[in-house]
Amino acid sequence: MNVLNHLTPVSGKKILVVEDEPDIRKLVHYNLAQEKYQVIEAEDGEKALRLLQREKPDLIVLDLLLPGMSGLELCRALRERPETANLPILMLTAKAGETDRVVGLELGADDYLTKPFSPREMVARVKAILRRSEMQATPAKEEVYERGPLKINFATYEVQVKGKPIRLTLKEFELLRVLVQNPNRVLNRDQLLDRVWGGETFVTPRTVDVHIRRLRKAIEKNDRKPMWILTVRGVGYKFDENAVET
Ligand code: CA
Repeated sequence: MNVLNHLTPVSGKKILVVEDEPDIRKLVHYNLAQEKYQVIEAEDGEKALRLLQREKPDLIVLDLLLPGMSGLELCRALRERPETANLPILMLTAKAGETDRVVGLELGADDYLTKPFSPREMVARVKAILRRSEMQATPAKEEVYERGPLKINFATYEVQVKGKPIRLTLKEFELLRVLVQNPNRVLNRDQLLDRVWGGETFVTPRTVDVHIRRLRKAIEKNDRKPMWILTVRGVGYKFDENAVET
């Protein structure tokens, strides 16, 4: 399941850790550096703001309880500035209170971890957030996709193959959208789950396979020998745009 994560170099992504407790700051730094992320540290919100302008990190791990400016204040400040409005934030807190969680997410944190947390869990959350933000940043989201016999209108949810309307469920359509908007790129099941099913519970990687099968049945000429939506064994699926064009 994690084959893609190992193959894809994650290096180059820069993460700012804002935490006043040196032990936790070092722990977070060490574990992210192990995953080849570039890590920078700030012990308070003021320093974080200064570093942000210069370093332009891809994600912030932000402690809620900081001396001076609190994590929530910093979070709010970041969301108000256009240049950091979409900057992914993973919030850390010592309090397990539901209100903190809600307030943190309302103020725009992307995810939330309660101390004490396992470093593995922290790294997994960071990866998931970065993956999501990468996909959202994928350019070329035109309203209408048209290649060869395949025509998709993303605004009206209409799909046609060779001029014939195709009926898809909403999930099948969303799955097709993600595949088409990331052409020729292998997407693993976790990425597809993240993107199409979001935070929904009771879905498993198996759900992806079932929907892929239905989608193939709906749009492929021969769903037993798919040409457009390809299986990449042990990894996931890939939309072959060249095959659609020829
Ligand atoms: Ca703290």
